[in-house]
Order: sequence, then C-alpha cells, then structure tokens
Amino acid sequence: MTRKCEICGRVIPKERLDILPGTKRCVECAQKNGTDVQARRTEVGMDIDTYRDLLGAIRS
Ligand SMILES: [Zn+2]
Repeated sequence: MTRKCEICGRVIPKERLDILPGTKRCVECAQKNGTDVQARRTEVGMDIDTYRDLLGAIRS
C-alpha cells in the first residue's frame, strides 16, 4: 500500500506510515507546513524534538 503526500504528491515512505498511519503528508511537508497528525503525537508520548528526530531518521 502506498500513499502520496497531499501537498507535494510524493509517495510517503512506508516506515512513516507504519508509525503515523493517519498522515497524509511526507516528512518534509510536515516540517514545513505542520504535521496533520498532531493529536497522535501525545499518544506516542514523546516531545516534539524527539519526534522530529525520529521522523528525520526514518527518512534518511
Ligand atoms: Zn510532501
């Protein structure tokens, strides 16, 4: 299953969808425009910087 970013149209990496099944944005667009899954962030239970690091690591 693939899902494309609602902003730039690129395919969202599977690893990101595994962690954020509800996301419609790729990491870059989430960082530029704000994530669309902020409500879930608290469920993950980590602060925003840790969260960004995690997503950045997944992307690279
Ligand atoms: Zn994008």
